[in-house]
Amino acid sequence: MKSALVGAPGKPFELSVGAPSAPGAGQVVVRVEACGICHTDAMLTEGQFPDARFPVVGGHEVAGRVEAVGFGVQGWKPGDRVGVGYSAGWCGTCTPCRTGDFVFCVRREVIGITYRGGFAETMVVPATALAVIPEELSAVDAAPLMCAGVTTFNALRHSDARGGDLVAVLGIGGLGHVAVQFAAKLGFETVAVSRGRDKEKLALELGADHYIDSTETDVAAALSDLGGARVILSTVTHAPAVTAAIGGLTARGELIVAGATADALKIDSNALIAEGRRVSGCLVGTPKDIEETLAFCALTGVRPMVETAPLDDIESAFARMLNGSARFRMVVLP
Ligand SMILES: [Zn+2]
Ligand SMILES: [Zn+2]
Repeated sequence: MKSALVGAPGKPFELSVGAPSAPGAGQVVVRVEACGICHTDAMLTEGQFPDARFPVVGGHEVAGRVEAVGFGVQGWKPGDRVGVGYSAGWCGTCTPCRTGDFVFCVRREVIGITYRGGFAETMVVPATALAVIPEELSAVDAAPLMCAGVTTFNALRHSDARGGDLVAVLGIGGLGHVAVQFAAKLGFETVAVSRGRDKEKLALELGADHYIDSTETDVAAALSDLGGARVILSTVTHAPAVTAAIGGLTARGELIVAGATADALKIDSNALIAEGRRVSGCLVGTPKDIEETLAFCALTGVRPMVETAPLDDIESAFARMLNGSARFRMVVLP
């Protein structure tokens, strides 16, 4: 069983070959067919998660098949097409769990930290982590939906925006290019915001009704000219680009932060208070949320745009994700 591990924070990937692990009680072995690369994987390999024990194997956008099931596993059998995202398990007894909010379990188990991830030929995960992949979606198309997809879909569908409302997506990258498609298919008047004109044509093809070039236009003023955004979903990593858009929200409008910014967000409190605006964050979803994301994509034709690379080339694939040259999600194939 081959895996791409990182031995210490900031070190390059090493390809390691070892005996495959057997599934424990309640666990399954998944044979990986495709695994997307997420920015969170870079935070993992750089050592930003204190709970991570090196060597680490990242990869929480997994599409594959069940290869073996452990004692007590019900509802899954070898050969089933399954996906695995970030959220793998939960305690069932903490306050978030008792209110059914498993993603925010205080003892949450996540792929890449609690369990080794999908940058490997096989992985062992709890059966609670599994989501069914519908036959309409290939493994390569399904993989990025496990994190980039469910994160943006959940953020938009659980927001206050309703059909016809103006919704802006900041950044057209790994998350943004699927977010624009979700926003359009959910019936929002969709605004894509990105730097330069390179991505304008594509953003409109993906379903955006409007495009704003943030290098030549004041984003807040442009959104206000369109009537104001009920929701702005930020997928960018440049903090000033996020805060510069807040003035484009309607009264009681909401900025949802999906992209981790390198620097802290500096927000003028009056921009929130005077219009009753809100700022919130969004974190992935449960395996059930993933299934609903996949079903929505199968129904509406939303698909990620991906570049594939063999697992052996994960170092260069990672570099393409980090420097923003990937169009748009990198997916490695074991
Ligand atoms: Zn992710
Ligand atoms: Zn819990």
